[in-house]
Amino acid sequence: MDLRVGHGFDVHRFSTDPGRVLVLGGVVFDGEPGLVGHSDADAVAHACADALLGAAGLGDIGEHFPDTDPAWAGADSMALLAEVVRMLADAGWRVVNVDCSVVCERPRIAPQRAAMVERLSAVVGAPVGVKGNRAEKLGAIGRNEGVVVMAVALVTR
Ligand code: MG
Repeated sequence: MDLRVGHGFDVHRFSTDPGRVLVLGGVVFDGEPGLVGHSDADAVAHACADALLGAAGLGDIGEHFPDTDPAWAGADSMALLAEVVRMLADAGWRVVNVDCSVVCERPRIAPQRAAMVERLSAVVGAPVGVKGNRAEKLGAIGRNEGVVVMAVALVTR
């Protein structure tokens, strides 16, 4: 069996723009500040996409969806993730599973975890795990300045 593992990382800082919506794993967190980004800044979708691209040896999302390209301004990152899964399929890869850790002081992930798992798993076509972690008030993330996401993906063909 041909197996490959990939790792993804993403970080976005919180925006002061009240018009930005916080979206993580395709799920909207009402009443929370949004993240700064060219797209919808869904750091969970971005980290999962990078883990998948890395596993398949297909580069990274910055290469395929450059933030200088107006086509991706305000983009739905779950559509971007779906496109990545399609690219993997075209290259003969099938996703075994993805797992990610969301590190932030806010929002609380647990109440939305099931919804995130459901949306991500549907788009990826394989089980996607989501875990929430706090930074214990250490550093920029601990000061509630943004969100970090780390993801691993396993693919096969
Ligand atoms: Mg990103």
